Amino acid sequence: MKRLVVLGGGESGVGTALLGKEKGYEVFLSDKGKIQNKYKEVLVHNEIEWEEQQHTESKVLNADVVMKSPGIPDKVELVKKLKSKGVSVISEIEFAAQFTKATIVGITGSNGKTTTTMLTHHILESGDLNVAMAGNIGDSFAKQVVKNESENFVLELSSFQLDGIENFKPHIAIITNITPDHLDRYDYKFENYIASKFRIAKNQTKNDYLIYDADDEVITDYLNENPVQSTLLPFSLTKKVEQGAYLENKNIKILIDNSQIIMPTTKLALQGKHNVKNAMAASTVAHLLKIRKHTIRESLENFQGAEHRLENVLKINKVQYINDSKATNVNATYFALESMGAPTVWIVGGVDKGNNYRELFQFVNEKVKAIICLGTDNAKLFENFGNMVDVIVETQFMSEAVKIAYKIAEAGDNVLLSPACASFDLFDNYEDRGRQFKEAVRNL
Ligand code: ADP
Repeated sequence: MKRLVVLGGGESGVGTALLGKEKGYEVFLSDKGKIQNKYKEVLVHNEIEWEEQQHTESKVLNADVVMKSPGIPDKVELVKKLKSKGVSVISEIEFAAQFTKATIVGITGSNGKTTTTMLTHHILESGDLNVAMAGNIGDSFAKQVVKNESENFVLELSSFQLDGIENFKPHIAIITNITPDHLDRYDYKFENYIASKFRIAKNQTKNDYLIYDADDEVITDYLNENPVQSTLLPFSLTKKVEQGAYLENKNIKILIDNSQIIMPTTKLALQGKHNVKNAMAASTVAHLLKIRKHTIRESLENFQGAEHRLENVLKINKVQYINDSKATNVNATYFALESMGAPTVWIVGGVDKGNNYRELFQFVNEKVKAIICLGTDNAKLFENFGNMVDVIVETQFMSEAVKIAYKIAEAGDNVLLSPACASFDLFDNYEDRGRQFKEAVRNL
């Protein structure tokens, strides 16, 4: 019997343990921290051996294969030891993929993964494909592979999941964009992070597809220097592509072989240039999987966006309140500000991840009438934007931030929460921050 050791007892770890058990492995799960009760119950119920708040080396180092959860860095001593012993240390995606024959669509990128994953899933499902969503969304991929009910999977893949693959090969891969993020896990080298994202294509052949943003020079430069086997299907807002998706007179045009689809961007449920890109990527997948044109168009029009991503909350006194709490980096906020069609009161701030705010200056000058800084340390925001707007204030309470915004905003304006920062100084996570914003707006 082969021994599977699972490091990390969260969603992907417990899912992997279940799948391993089902496939006849001797399974041991070990978590350095505490395991949530709901997961403990699953482990106990399925008679899987586990431990928490420690890693017992003698029970880990004797593994044939180790699944490492994405939150555990490679630098950890135990992981180094395993690797030096020649034990293969893989991700949940790698482990689970070998047990399914389903068609896999893998989606990675620095921003837009969740939105594009949900949108792709929505179109495929509307086209009556038997399709499930997994990866960083909802139930783990491994757990869904146990159920063995889906013929297609749309997977949201972080770079950490991709670092742990060996043979994983999505039939269709998407790289939405690449901007610096998580560099602490990549020796502060952007090139390492880029290479990690491109692992999504490493096992693809010419019968597989790589869909990517052709306007993103990080991506195109990398591809020029490191050609892949995959059939390339770029998308672009600025230029015509031979195969793939592009814009023509405010229409999205998707062209693959000789078959084309045309969709007006004005009818897209999700507005903003970044969402045109996401729509291009998702519809290219749908076109490849032979979803009817009519269904693709309709699904793009009726898609309910993901919570906390440019989510329209309420209109009060003709002021639109928008929750973009998921914008935890400058690039995401760039697209939020870019998509604002009215003067905007902007709520920003939190834990700065080494942000360079320069690329926002143009939009702040053009569109932002007031800034409300919501963080424990707002000095950098004052430095960058202090001279750019008439009103800049700070607070440490969401309810107060929203009340100030309410006072400043006039009919026709937007109030936008798009922090460009992580949330951990004042909130549990970005969801908590977004929910507090929505609650404060509803209480106005
Ligand atoms: P991820 O899962 O990669 O974090 P999300 O879909 O959750 O991506 O979106 C994160 C943030 O990035 C949101 O603020 C969203 O509005 C913004 N965003 C969505 N799509 C894109 C894109 N293609 N390019 C840049 N920013 C985007």
